[in-house]
Amino acid sequence: MFGKFSFKGGVHPSHCKDQTASLNIETLPAPEKVIIPLSQHIGAPAKIAVKRDDMVKIGQVLGEAGGFVSAPVHASVSGKVVSVGPFAHPLGKQVTAVEIENDGNDDTVEFTPLPTPWREAAPQEIVQKISAAGIVGMGGASFPTHVKLSPPSNKPIDTVIINGAECEPYLTADHRLMLEKTEEMLCGAMIIKKILGASKIWIGIEENKPDAIAVISEKIAQDKFKEISLAKLKAKYPQGGEKQLINAVTKRQVPSGGLPMDCGCVVQNIGTAYTIWDAVCNGKPLYQRVVTVTGSTIRKPANLLVRIGTPIKTLLEHCDIDYDSTQKVIMGGPMMGLAQSDFTAPVIKSTSGILGYKTLTTGVREYDCISCGNCVKACPIHLVPSYLAKYVQKGLYEDAMTWNILDCMECGSCAYACPSKINLVHYMKVGKFHAMGIKKEKEKK
Ligand code: SF4
Ligand code: SF4
Repeated sequence: MFGKFSFKGGVHPSHCKDQTASLNIETLPAPEKVIIPLSQHIGAPAKIAVKRDDMVKIGQVLGEAGGFVSAPVHASVSGKVVSVGPFAHPLGKQVTAVEIENDGNDDTVEFTPLPTPWREAAPQEIVQKISAAGIVGMGGASFPTHVKLSPPSNKPIDTVIINGAECEPYLTADHRLMLEKTEEMLCGAMIIKKILGASKIWIGIEENKPDAIAVISEKIAQDKFKEISLAKLKAKYPQGGEKQLINAVTKRQVPSGGLPMDCGCVVQNIGTAYTIWDAVCNGKPLYQRVVTVTGSTIRKPANLLVRIGTPIKTLLEHCDIDYDSTQKVIMGGPMMGLAQSDFTAPVIKSTSGILGYKTLTTGVREYDCISCGNCVKACPIHLVPSYLAKYVQKGLYEDAMTWNILDCMECGSCAYACPSKINLVHYMKVGKFHAMGIKKEKEKK
C-alpha cells in the first residue's frame, strides 16, 4: 500500500497546520445576507434566473449554466433577493452577483437524490446530476466537474486519483473532511470511477497527516472499499498539483500543454469527491463548503462549514481576527492564494482557506540573480525560471514561449527558493499573459 510517492522538484515550506489540524469542522451560522456571484468557476458565467424581490429557498437555482463549460449557482439561504448587480469578488474584480437577505427559516427546495442507485445508473445520468448540482473543483481550480468527468472517447481514463495532499501550508479543510466524512468521500471516489469506467482509484495523502492515513487505511481494508488504494505521499510543495500528483502516484507524465486525460488520469479533490456523494446520494447542490480560517492574527482559528456567499468579514470576525495587527488577508493558501482588500467579498465554491497575517510580503527588495540554480531545482515542471524571468524583463515573450512558459502553474516554488528574493511568479504571470495573446493571434491566422 505504501511506497515513496513523490515527484522531482518542489520546496519544503513550514506546514503551519497545527493550529487547526485537530479542530473538528464547526458550522458557521448563516449570515444575515449572502452575495452569490454568477461566476465562481472557469468558463462562462451562469445566466441569471431570479430577479429582485423574488423569494428563494436553499438549493434554488439563481443562475443557470451559461454553456457546457460553466456551472449553475444556487441559493445558500432562504429569503428575499434584494439586489442583482456588481459586487466585489475574491478574485479582485467586480462581478454580477445575487444578494439575498436571509429570512432565517432555512427553507429548502426538495432535494432529490439520483432515482437509481448509483451503481446501477448510467454514467451520463450521474454526470447530469453532478452538473445540475453546480459542482466545480473545490481545491482551488474551480473547473466544472461534469466537464472533467466527460472526457472524449479517444481519451480513455483508467486511473482516478483523489487528491488528499493539501500541500499548501496552513490549510486543513480537506484533512478534516477525510477524518470526519471518510465513508462519504470514499463513496464519492467510487462514483467517479464508475462514471469514467476506470480500473483503479488512488487516494494520495501527504505523510504529515498520519491520522487521515490511519482512518483511510482502515476503511479500505473493508470489502466495500476494496477497490481503493492509498498512496502515502512525501510532504512537499506542490505535491497536490495535478501533474505532480499523477507523476508521484503513477509515474506517468502529463505532456507539455496537455491535460491529465492525455495520460489516462482524472484527478479530483477530497472536497469535490465528498460533494459528488452529497449530490448523487442526497440530491444536494453545492451551496456550502469547509473553509480553514487561521494565521498569525486569527485568535480563534477554525475549520468552518460555511454557506457560499458568506462575506469573508463574517469568517474573520467569527474567528476573532486582530484587525489592528493584520497587514494581509489571503484567500487560499500562502503559496498560491490571493490577497484580499475588500472583506465584503464572499466565500465562493473554491475558497479553501482565509488567512490573516501580521507581515506584508510585498515590497521586499529584489537582488540580482546569482545564477545559483535553486529556482530550477525547485520547479516541479522542470522549467528554467531564471531564464524565463530575464526574457520577460526584456519583453522577449516568444523566446519565453519556446522555453515553455505556458506550462508554468504559478506554484511559487521558484520564488520561495530564490535567495535574491526575485518575484519570479510575477514575471511568469506577466510572461504568460503576453504569451497567451501571441498564441491566440497565431491560432487566428
Ligand atoms: S511558478 Fe512556474 S516557474 Fe516557478 S516553480 Fe512554479 S511552475 Fe516553475
Ligand atoms: S534562484 Fe534566484 S538567484 Fe538563483 S538562479 Fe534562480 S533567479 Fe537566480
